[in-house]
Amino acid sequence: MNEFSDWQSKQDGLRIGIGTDHGGYAKKELLKGTLAQSGLKVLDFGPSGVQPDDDYPDYAAPLCRALLNNEIDCGILICRSGIGMSVCANRFHGVRAALAESPEKAAMSRSHNNANILVTGGDQMSDAELLKTVEAWLGQAFSAEERHVRRLHKLEELSLDDVAPIRKTDPELAAIIEREGARQARGLELIASENFASVAVRAAAGTVLTNKYAEGYPGRRYYNGCQHVDEVETLAIERACRLFGAEAANVQPHSGSQANMAAYYAILEHGDKVLGMSLDHGGHLTHGHKVNFSGRSYEFIGYGVDRESERLDYDNIAELAQQHKPKLLLAGASAYPRIIDFARMRQIADQVGAYFMVDMAHIAGLVAAGLHPSPLPYADIVTSTTHKTLRGPRGGLILCKENLIKKVNSWLFPGIQGGPLMHIIAAKAVCFQEALQPQFSAYQQQVVANTARLAEELAKGGLRIVSGGTDNHLMLVDLRPKSVSGKAAADALDRADITVNMNMIPFDPAKPSVTSGIRVGTAAVSTRGMREAEMQKVAALMCRILDNIDDEQVCAEVRQQVGELAAQFPMPKILI
Ligand SMILES: *Cc1c(COP(=O)(O)O)cnc(C)c1O
Repeated sequence: MNEFSDWQSKQDGLRIGIGTDHGGYAKKELLKGTLAQSGLKVLDFGPSGVQPDDDYPDYAAPLCRALLNNEIDCGILICRSGIGMSVCANRFHGVRAALAESPEKAAMSRSHNNANILVTGGDQMSDAELLKTVEAWLGQAFSAEERHVRRLHKLEELSLDDVAPIRKTDPELAAIIEREGARQARGLELIASENFASVAVRAAAGTVLTNKYAEGYPGRRYYNGCQHVDEVETLAIERACRLFGAEAANVQPHSGSQANMAAYYAILEHGDKVLGMSLDHGGHLTHGHKVNFSGRSYEFIGYGVDRESERLDYDNIAELAQQHKPKLLLAGASAYPRIIDFARMRQIADQVGAYFMVDMAHIAGLVAAGLHPSPLPYADIVTSTTHKTLRGPRGGLILCKENLIKKVNSWLFPGIQGGPLMHIIAAKAVCFQEALQPQFSAYQQQVVANTARLAEELAKGGLRIVSGGTDNHLMLVDLRPKSVSGKAAADALDRADITVNMNMIPFDPAKPSVTSGIRVGTAAVSTRGMREAEMQKVAALMCRILDNIDDEQVCAEVRQQVGELAAQFPMPKILI
């Protein structure tokens, strides 16, 4: 069955709403009695008498909201011409209101359009005609034929337009946003840290929750009026803990970097030693880069991958730990394509009495789906972003054991942040809920399968894949076999609407601003529904560019083909 579910299956307890304005009041009273007699549950949305000056939207809108909130199964709206009610009802996304004044048209609005509101009973109709029309409407099932379902899908997509209010007040900005939306839609997004959040995640991020100050934590705020944002944050925390099997969570970090900063503050003193993955082997800026607060505040020692296997060298990490006796051992990376052995890292930390922290920013989605071993059983603190493989809003997350949450919380606020972004926290709650669904695991499985396939095909095309392959959502591609730099490759691919980023490969002889590699991930294209067969095409398109790096003709051809491929895979839809 499709999501345009039919109410015929529950004819028994069918809940029907009726609303009119003064023009339809008498017909409403007539209908109410008749429908109740046939065993339907009738909800009256008013008016309660004839008030010549009343406004039809005041009755139509509550009925539509009740329908969308699943408080009624269908509705009937009546006004003099039926037109005002139709216009009003069809403003609501998900409402399909049909103005029908004959039994034939009413039935057709069900079988073809799956109308969930009937607008009828205008001035020209007799009581008998009205009853016949309503009866025909209620008695007709949606055909669920493919062509009708297809058309309804198109129609539902049309009425979701989050730029509409901006277009009214700020057309200049709206046009820019639309250009960015078009860019995202027409290209192949292969940046490993990006993804396409669902419509629900984006909608939550645009809610009235942005208006609320809520410094503090649920039940302990510095502002009044927090009862509802408390509910939002509690829900987000509870879902985050459930999703990852964590004892405690802080959902307030504005970003992954701020999650890391608060986590460091919770366990380190200024100048403490931290053993983390060095940047040129795949670590993150916040893992001790000298231009970052982390490198300025703590003494970072970098570990890396083995020159041969290009995988983490755990023996070397253990040696470095013995040698430097760090206060913290840090795992996690921005560009490491292999499984990380958290159990082994915990052992190493224990041998020197260090805390063990995991920054799972990149792999959080895989962890949530059970496709990468979870760090939770091993780490004292786990930090993450919510917008990479996890596919939520741009933001951060901290998970930890119960004994550390007080410190984490107070270092996050008031330590380094002020008021939390409640709209983003709501979007995180939506993201966690989505990630708890079985479809999310299926999606992550596809990500891993797609990445493996893309790596295989790129290797066939003559490129070298760092460490010989990938276990997760990304790979590092060594471009030296094609004598192209990372910078030149990323720029050329971008001109053909394929987006990646240049990236250092381990032991890279090139400068960080040039690099010998690119980082490639499939989280975003997999969200659009691409599978292994498409990865083969994507690899071919990429190789074509890399083999003809300055050829404008080739670039134009590939760009065209990229557009055609992308067009077959829609951006996230309302119905996932
Ligand atoms: C992306 C990333 C971060 C930082 O995330 P921002 O939200 O950009 O601050 C932190 N750590 C790792 C490992 C990352 O990959």
